[in-house]
Amino acid sequence: MAVDMDTIVSLCKRRGFIFQSSEIYGGIGSTWDYGPLGVELKNNVKRAWWRDNVYARDDMEGLDAAILMHPKVWEASGHVSSFTDPLVDCKSCKRRFRADHVEGTRCPECGGELTEARQFNLMFKTFMGPVEEDAAVVYLRPETAQGIFVNFANVLESRRRKLPFGIAQIGKTFRNEITPGNFTFRTREFEQMEIEYFVEPQRADEAFEYWVKARHDWYLRYGMRPDNLRLRQHGHDELAHYAKGCYDVEYLFPMGWSELEGIANRGDYDLQAHATASGRSLTYFDDKTRQHYLPYVIEPSAGADRATLAFLIDAYCTEEVRDRQRVVLRLHPALAPIKVAILPLLRNRADVVETARKLYADLRRHFPTDYNDTGAIGRLYARQDEVGTPYCVTIDVQTLSDQQVTIRDRDTTEQVRLALDQVRAYVQDKLTVD
Ligand code: ATP
Repeated sequence: MAVDMDTIVSLCKRRGFIFQSSEIYGGIGSTWDYGPLGVELKNNVKRAWWRDNVYARDDMEGLDAAILMHPKVWEASGHVSSFTDPLVDCKSCKRRFRADHVEGTRCPECGGELTEARQFNLMFKTFMGPVEEDAAVVYLRPETAQGIFVNFANVLESRRRKLPFGIAQIGKTFRNEITPGNFTFRTREFEQMEIEYFVEPQRADEAFEYWVKARHDWYLRYGMRPDNLRLRQHGHDELAHYAKGCYDVEYLFPMGWSELEGIANRGDYDLQAHATASGRSLTYFDDKTRQHYLPYVIEPSAGADRATLAFLIDAYCTEEVRDRQRVVLRLHPALAPIKVAILPLLRNRADVVETARKLYADLRRHFPTDYNDTGAIGRLYARQDEVGTPYCVTIDVQTLSDQQVTIRDRDTTEQVRLALDQVRAYVQDKLTVD
């Protein structure tokens, strides 16, 4: 049965994945803090994305652009004039909605009358320097993509790249969303994982198809259930005027199918806009055809927080094992926050504890490792299952004589004996992704 969001929120708080921001002051709307396990999980999602999209490919470069950019960037990109959502207010209960999220003309909460829609710009504004005047206005970036476009020529030249090639970036993004909600699904501060893939115009369609499939399949590689993932093509009425095509990778969240990632063929719109506004040429010189032209761009744009939430929801499972109910997060070992837990069975035996501590000290230099001797073994297993630790190692008196431990698999709960000095390689092997 599908899990509801409240169960996920409560598990996240109880076990240190995600906390409400500034909770001791009553919290602040729609911002969340990643706790000790959450930061590991989210870092693992970002690391997997970076490894697969940057290190594993020979046509990709990384970038880490600043959040604050020249305000002209956002004029050229169209964000100042049109990064808006239509906003309606209920005249009775005063609640606010995105007009495109309301069906009909009445308030979805109280049935009251709604105001006419007004356009509301989603960019956060602030001031650079000590004087709060119009000339000092800067924006917190509402997407990471523009940092890539304005560095296109820098990367091209410094790395002597030929088309096609891509630039990948992970970073914070801010949007003053009208209706944040559904936990970390829609927040006002979040992280994006974006690629701009530059390609000859005549090869753009092919590259677009390639990326749509590659990005869909990426989630499956990390264990997401195929039934919970789908691709949705945007209709013509949904496309931005410059976009030549767009697909969403959607996930079946508790509130229904929702966007996890968008993949768009943006043509040469962005480079053209920045070339015109900055007066700098951003064309590519093709030395075979001796032609200068603007490349087309394929943009796979994902959210690190949404992906993390989807992986959490997808992994959540309750089941009965040997007459006992258990909650288990079946996270892919590469994503699991803790990779292995060391559980000494006899905490009063100095020699058992010493062996366990030694293994713990060795393993934690290689991957996140837990050590726990504070309860009955059944309880300790249950705690590790609930946070998705793929392996538990127990150490007992027999270990002292045969130098072997028992290693338990989270998903099957099967246990096998393994040489002490093999534990590290055994776990490491499971973390590798083909
Ligand atoms: P929506 O229609 O849900 O507002 P969008 O189409 O505006 O989203 P994009 O601009 O395509 O979103 O952003 C790319 C990705 O960034 C999204 O697929 C999503 O994973 C993530 N993202 C966008 N807005 C938010 C948000 N408010 N909170 C968390 N993640 C977000």
